[in-house]
Amino acid sequence: MPKIAIIGSGIAGLAAAYNCKRQGHHVTLFEKQASPGMGAHGFQLNFNGHAVLGDLPSRMFNRSLWPGVARLYDDLGIQYEKVLAEQNFFSVETARSFQFSIPVDWKVKLGIATGVAASPMHRQMQRLQQCATRDLEQGNAGGTFAHYLKRHDFSAEFTSTFLFPALSATVCTCSDKAIGNYPAAILLDAMQKIGTGDGLWRVSAGSSAVVSALLASVDDLCCSTPVVSVTENDASATIRLQDSQLEFDRVIIATQANHVAQLCPELPGSVRQVLASFVYEPVPVIVHTDPRFMPTEKGQWSVFNFQSSSAGSMCSVWLNRFHTQWPDGEPVFQTIKPLFEPASDTIKCAVNLQRPVVTEASYGLWDSIAKINRSGSRIKFCGSYAVEGIPLLESAVVSAHRVCQDLAGG
Ligand SMILES: Cc1cc2nc3c(=O)[nH]c(=O)nc-3n(C[C@H](O)[C@H](O)[C@H](O)COP(=O)(O)OP(=O)(O)OC[C@H]3O[C@@H](n4cnc5c(N)ncnc54)[C@H](O)[C@@H]3O)c2cc1C
Repeated sequence: MPKIAIIGSGIAGLAAAYNCKRQGHHVTLFEKQASPGMGAHGFQLNFNGHAVLGDLPSRMFNRSLWPGVARLYDDLGIQYEKVLAEQNFFSVETARSFQFSIPVDWKVKLGIATGVAASPMHRQMQRLQQCATRDLEQGNAGGTFAHYLKRHDFSAEFTSTFLFPALSATVCTCSDKAIGNYPAAILLDAMQKIGTGDGLWRVSAGSSAVVSALLASVDDLCCSTPVVSVTENDASATIRLQDSQLEFDRVIIATQANHVAQLCPELPGSVRQVLASFVYEPVPVIVHTDPRFMPTEKGQWSVFNFQSSSAGSMCSVWLNRFHTQWPDGEPVFQTIKPLFEPASDTIKCAVNLQRPVVTEASYGLWDSIAKINRSGSRIKFCGSYAVEGIPLLESAVVSAHRVCQDLAGG
């Protein structure tokens, strides 16, 4: 039975383990953190004596933009449920706010059928949706997102209060500048599939349910085990740990791309260059109870509460409404990219994550990774960064699927 080592237990490494096991391999999974990476930052809160679990970050999906994730969860028998995707957008500059829900029912929301006057924001959203449908169909959505919006004359207020916050503080979690540099076609396609698809979903029992189901495919799980280096020769691939070394037939590296250079000092320069070219941005996430992150009027609190200012955008998820099964208790929020610090006595937990950003140069990098993985090397790469699209659970699962096809092909 071929021996496969997988380094990293985010969803990419776990999905790769699942695929490798189905191909009949013996799977050893190495993770540097104390528990599998996909659920490593989960947290527990206490509501009047009831313990509740939350994910950090809270992750969502649907069947339109995440078909591979939905298929994997269905195969595993994972239960999921709809998220109440109501959103409130507030601009610090203009002190104006507006509300919006996913999926968008254009007829009702825009008053087309009802005759109710649509707000200027909603009218711009409808125009963007129409432009996106037409331009994607006609292959006319080339260039950066910033260019696309300029070409179609969308207002600065629409862009800075709604569009960029919605993308930069949730879907892509990156700076507004990086959103402007994204390829327009990728974002327009994603917005269509999120906004008009089957809404947004979350795994009912959280990431730990996915982790447990996928770990069933792992023969040997080694947590708190940072891999120091990976090398290969004609006969095997060698994994060096802090105090030992092990031989495998193949190694799948499922870490972030920016961790590979240190891990694989003997890779050809051209391969190291490709992996080093994926750019990551920091994404701080804080779980807290500070109500200053929410709209001033409690009646306007939504599940997703966006605030934008000249400094950028943040999103605070009202966790008690996101988790419909949580018992009543103190309001708790998860803020992505906080623009200011929550009061220290309100902080429950905090983590600094990283996320790759996508530019037009990414297309060339995705092609290069595919070629590297199809070469005869014993070392293969997968992760959310490694295939086309926004780096999401979906790209990680697709990447894991492809890398295992490459393994099967030699
Ligand atoms: C705030 C935020 C919100 C998000 N929300 C969503 C969402 O709603 N929906 C969605 O689809 N996606 C979402 N994402 C993106 C999604 O979480 C990621 O795309 C996905 O988790 C990446 O998985 P991965 O397996 O590629 O990488 P990672 O999860 O980064 O896994 C890499 C693993 O490798 C381990 N590792 C690194 N080096 C070593 C070593 N030397 N030895 C052993 N182990 C090592 C790391 O500890 C880590 O566990 C969000 C991301 C952020 C930051």
